[in-house]
Formats: sequence, structure tokens, C-alpha cells
Amino acid sequence: MNFKSNKINLLGYDLAHMKAFFSEIGEKPFRAVQVLKWIHQFGAHDFAQMSNVSQTLRQRLSEIAEIKAPEIVAEQKASDGTIKWLMRLDGGNSIETVYIPEDNRGTLCVSSQVGCALDCGFCSTAKQGFNRNLTSAEIIAQLWVANLALNPLAQASSDDSDSTHHGKVQDSKNRVITNVVLMGMGEPLLNFNNVVEAIHLMLEDNAYGLSKRRVTLSTAGVVPALKRLREECDVSLAISLHAPNDEIRDKIVPLNKKYPIKELLAACQHYFSGDTKKKQFTIEYVMLAGVNDSEKNARELAVLLKNMPCKINLIPFNPFPSSDFECSKMHTINRFKDILYKAGYVVVVRKTRGEDIDAACGQLAGKVKDKSRRTGVENK
Ligand code: SAH
Repeated sequence: MNFKSNKINLLGYDLAHMKAFFSEIGEKPFRAVQVLKWIHQFGAHDFAQMSNVSQTLRQRLSEIAEIKAPEIVAEQKASDGTIKWLMRLDGGNSIETVYIPEDNRGTLCVSSQVGCALDCGFCSTAKQGFNRNLTSAEIIAQLWVANLALNPLAQASSDDSDSTHHGKVQDSKNRVITNVVLMGMGEPLLNFNNVVEAIHLMLEDNAYGLSKRRVTLSTAGVVPALKRLREECDVSLAISLHAPNDEIRDKIVPLNKKYPIKELLAACQHYFSGDTKKKQFTIEYVMLAGVNDSEKNARELAVLLKNMPCKINLIPFNPFPSSDFECSKMHTINRFKDILYKAGYVVVVRKTRGEDIDAACGQLAGKVKDKSRRTGVENK
């Protein structure tokens, strides 16, 4: 049986939203800070754990609200240490979240939608179709759940009467997740409000306290939303360009027909205008054999990006069953890289991580219950 709770899920509330909630129930704003800390820094899932909140308020909260995250239904660990979790959502859908450990950082790759409506030909998520936007709770839950899974001993326990008796899951000194990339399933800018609220929590000192530099939103280029993002929370940007001209991009990223390259790059430039602290954004370029990987394409790209404050990430195409593309040969990728390098760009070939568990870029699948919906792009 699948019945929905009428309780308010506080997991996805940012500070402003949480303050509004407490004010609505006649409580002081400082409660918002207390509860945020409990949920996100101590991993509390039950109001009973919140020992510095009065008994009466805890009781009241448990009657009207809840802290609810999707359940992990599968966990896979790759030989390189990459971990992929499959999380089940209400209604039979599921999403994937990937943790990528490196020497000096740990990156969590977060999904923003169930499936994706953009239909990029080289992406496995696109083949699933689109089902729905994730709520802010479901987006931040990926960080919340991963934190608990990676720090199982630190989890808050209701037996503890004093919060100092257990470790923080989100302690700035021993953070396991140091970076978040919105590069999982979905197009984050087509789920704007929920993504922004979740980002607020990532940046919030009373929650995850990550710096803007360490939160990266990857987009295929929803131009009007880029302008709004700059006003709301100007996190780091990665742009899925993948082509040096509109002719090629129209074929592999259909959104390009709506927002062509020139408009997209102008929006990127605007994103950085007037801010000297933000240095550059990332151009993502998936290497597809015979499609966008010629020397001519590299030279064209070098001209296109002239004067753009960007670095270039070349992504070897990760194949998946039923994909129509092949990855460029390594020598072709290196040649492409050299041309850009000689033209003065910072260019790196992205290392494929978690390949043996299908956790690499574009391989995330999850489960989309109703694949027939392809809406979600039209009205933006
Ligand atoms: N919709 C967003 C974020 C999701 S995709 C976007 O388009 O940016 C995250 C990155 O993985 C994008 O750059 C995407 O183009 C790339 N990608 C998708 N499928 C891929 C594949 N099969 N191999 C390599 N990279 C892929």
C-alpha cells in the first residue's frame, strides 16, 4: 500500500523557509537554526533527538512535521572507491547519487530530476524519458543520506541527551563530502526553485557550509534560468557545450535549437560580469568519435571560446547499452587537447570514475516509472 503522509517534510527547508515555518506555528526564529543544525549537521531524523528543543515543542513538531529522506535500496562500490547509491522515491521512481573520493577531496554527484526531458543523444538518462522534478527535500536528501552512509558512527542517537556526545556528520574539519556537483540525472535549471533551495542548504553555515566554489551546477544551457541563478545563488558553473558550432550542437543537444551557442555564451559572460572573485566556469565537451572530435572542431572551439573566462573539460564518452555513439580514440582526444592547450586554454581530460558500476557521467539510470512524459522544457 502506498499512502502519503500529510506531515510537512522539513528536510528540504532552507533557513528562510524554516524561519517562516516556525513563525507560522508561533515559535521564535532561533528554533529554525537549532532544527537545521540537528537535521543537517547531526543527521537527526527524529525530533526526539533534538535535546536542546523543549519537550513540548518536540512533541508538537512530531505531530505536524517529519524529516523524511528516500531509502537507499542499493549500494555499489567500484574498484576505484566510487560509490553509487540507488534511492527509492515515493511512487515507484528511483534516482542515483554517486560519491567520488579523490586524494584531497570527496565529490558527491547529485540528481535533480527523475529522468530528463532534454533528450541529449549521448546520455543514458535521456533514454529514460522524464518523469518529474525532485523536491528540495529529495535533492538535499542525497547529501544527507550520503553523509550518514559515509559517517555511520556519527549519526545522532535519541539515547544521547547531549548533542556533544556524538560526532557531527557535517563537521568542517573532517568532512567526507567536500564538493557537490549537480551533474547527476536531470537538468537542474529546469527544476529551478527546488534546486536553488537545496543549494541554499548546501551553502548554509547552519547546514553544510560549503563554499560557492565547491558547489557546481552543470547545465545544458537554459539561458533565462542562468540569469535568475546569478541573482539567487551564484555557484560555480559547468556548461555542457559539447560542440564548436550550432550545426553539430543542434543534433546532439536539442535544447540548442531553443538557446543557441551565441546566446548561451553571452549568458555565461553575464554570469561572471562585475565579479572579480569568480574566475572562470567549466566547459564540458564529451568526445564522440567522428561527431565533434576533429582537429577542425578543436580549432573552431578555440576561436569560439576566445575571451571566455573558462577552462575546458574533455569527457571521454561513456557508452551504455543502446547508445549510438562511440568514444573518440585516446590519440584523437590528446590531439584535440593539444590544439586547445596551444591556443592558451586550461584543458583537462576528465578521468572516468566508477566505470565498473555504471556510475560514470551519463550512465546514471535509476528507474522512471512513467517514461511517456517528455514535458518540462516547453514553458521555460
Ligand atoms: N543536464 C545537465 C547535468 C547532467 S549531465 C547537463 O547537461 O549539464 C552531466 C554531464 O555528463 C554533462 O556534461 C553531460 O553532457 C555529460 N554526459 C552525459 N552523458 C554522457 C556520456 N554518456 N558520457 C560522458 N559524458 C556524458
